[in-house]
Amino acid sequence: MEIQIEGIPITIEKKKIKNIYLKVLSPNGKVVISAPKRMSQKAIEEFAFSKSTWIKEKRKKYEGRMPQRELQYETGEQILFLGKTYPLEVKYWNGSNKVTFSEEKIQMWIKENSTREQREKCLNEWYRKQLKMRIPKLIDKWEPVMNVQVKEWNVKNMKTRWGTCNTSAQRIWLNLQLAKSKPECLEYVVVHEMTHLLEQNHNERFWGFMDSFFPDWRTIKAELNRI
Ligand SMILES: [Zn+2]
Repeated sequence: MEIQIEGIPITIEKKKIKNIYLKVLSPNGKVVISAPKRMSQKAIEEFAFSKSTWIKEKRKKYEGRMPQRELQYETGEQILFLGKTYPLEVKYWNGSNKVTFSEEKIQMWIKENSTREQREKCLNEWYRKQLKMRIPKLIDKWEPVMNVQVKEWNVKNMKTRWGTCNTSAQRIWLNLQLAKSKPECLEYVVVHEMTHLLEQNHNERFWGFMDSFFPDWRTIKAELNRI
């Protein structure tokens, strides 16, 4: 069973025990409550709620410690694509570098003596291509709904923002990293940047537009912030 306290999922395990106890697992910060078999869900929730500050502190500590292992782009590593992970298979060949996606795996075709940077670049180019296939459809879908026009768009690898909008040029840039997130995240960022064509600032009017175009924006924004 699972409950949520302030957005944190908590796994409940009923056991033949006398007292309820809670642990936050390292290194992923997963929260598990072991409760006596007969304890009611309400009592468990109240207990979890009373510990929420402690849970958050503990999770924060783990977050800092969690080693974000840098990808080497080698066979067996997990690659993010559209919100899911797929195993990477590196194939050596002397043709031009490319990535193919089939049967739930990502294959990278590259020269045997390639460096990590070359492999990273190869994957990024594929991500870029994937986004460039998807973005025009989204713009076409939203232009008539929002009654705006995007004159130019592009994909950039940005460090701090998911997208930008140059309102006078009617140009939007989207972050290459969006290829790793769910399709809804890409759509949210496209709609967000397009909304800037109606309202430049993040004011009430702006979020009012977002509420009417994309009512679920808060959930997706929170998800993007987590990434
Ligand atoms: Zn914005």
